[in-house]
Amino acid sequence: MSTIKTERRNLDKSRAHFQEAVKHMPLGVSSNFRYWGDDNTIFVKRGKGARLWDIDGNEYIDYRLGYGPAILGHCHDTVDAAAREAQPVGTVYALGTEKEVTVAKLIKEMMPAADLVRFSNSGTEAVMAALRLARGYTGKDNYVTFEGSYHGLFDATMWTADPDDMKDQSKDPRVITYGQGIPQLVRQLFWQVPYNDAQRLEDVLKKNHDTIAAVLIEPILGNCCGIPSKPEFIKAVRELCTKYNVLMIVDEVKTGFRVAKGGAQELYGIQADIFTVAKAMANGYPISAIGGREEIMRKYGKGVAHGGTYTAQAMSLAAAEATLTILKDTDALKNIAAYGQAMQDGMRKVLSKRGIPHSFTGHQSMSGLFFSAEAPTTYRNWKLSDYTFYDTMAGYLIDMGVMCEPDSREPWFISAGHDKACLDETLAKFEEAVDLTLD
Ligand code: PLP
Repeated sequence: MSTIKTERRNLDKSRAHFQEAVKHMPLGVSSNFRYWGDDNTIFVKRGKGARLWDIDGNEYIDYRLGYGPAILGHCHDTVDAAAREAQPVGTVYALGTEKEVTVAKLIKEMMPAADLVRFSNSGTEAVMAALRLARGYTGKDNYVTFEGSYHGLFDATMWTADPDDMKDQSKDPRVITYGQGIPQLVRQLFWQVPYNDAQRLEDVLKKNHDTIAAVLIEPILGNCCGIPSKPEFIKAVRELCTKYNVLMIVDEVKTGFRVAKGGAQELYGIQADIFTVAKAMANGYPISAIGGREEIMRKYGKGVAHGGTYTAQAMSLAAAEATLTILKDTDALKNIAAYGQAMQDGMRKVLSKRGIPHSFTGHQSMSGLFFSAEAPTTYRNWKLSDYTFYDTMAGYLIDMGVMCEPDSREPWFISAGHDKACLDETLAKFEEAVDLTLD
């Protein structure tokens, strides 16, 4: 985590609130990642479009967007009106509503891999449900993930290559849990292979395909600064899954309805057996979906359990209908990508002028910035890259009101609310932050 400067902002109210919050909640927040230190944890008053304001009144251009969901910008009038209009329907009945089919049809229209759709509440829940479905359908228990992936908070996926083992790249790193409370027994169920390395995947599948239900892949490593699949790699994953009779689960929780109308599957020209989507689908309202091939999806109801008290809640569904309709029928995603490209171009100009090596990862709508001439292509070389320059610069930027991710782990997310004024302000402040970092 960078040292976030607090020279230009008054954080008195956030600091006072933190002292109260921490008496009642661990770290004073509802997610460990929202804690930025006792003096630096800020609390949001409101957001609109690409901007947000904290309770001290400091204004920020937001490139975190809640880790991606606010694709149309915060508090989008049409989406919020749709959610409000749905409110009289109520919340939960443990029965279906008509709107589910409307949204399922929209997803099917945008994502050709979806013969059928089921709804959940969060990315974690959707990936859990997808993995269970793959196991139920194939009758196999094991699975494969890739180093540097994040698929949610559940035990099956809270594992990572040990960063302390990265220095010696000649041997595979140990695979360890993200934190405590995850049973070691789970480790027996999966293989974790290097990203962008189809040969290593084939080695595992060749030997073990009889026990492997699925390969679970993020098409762009959204929690590893947006490292993208090489096109030949993700195509090889598709082919290998077919060859070895293993299901390909594409986790599009971050990329879905963001990098293209049909997500990363459209971008790369592949089709998953099962996929998950969440964040951008309802502009921040809690909802996710699992989609996939008909014969697989029909296992829900023929032996594989899926449900949840809050699934397909009316307001989230209405928000999803409004958001997906806008994304499908307008140039919003094109404009988002154009903004991302213009931002990268502007940053390149600033950095090149100063002879600072740099590169960008990911897609224009969710990209990472590196201070090395070559962008990393695996978790291993990402972990070895030096991000002290980024971290210091990000600390200045946040203080100036450009809310980027402070620790270079997450990409910068762009929304349809980011306009020319945001771009000009961001680039001017970026230049200033770079110079302060160089000093
Ligand atoms: N899958 C991916 C690719 C994600 O990026 C995330 C969250 O960042 C998840 C799953 C988990 O989603 P959620 O935080 O909604 O549970």
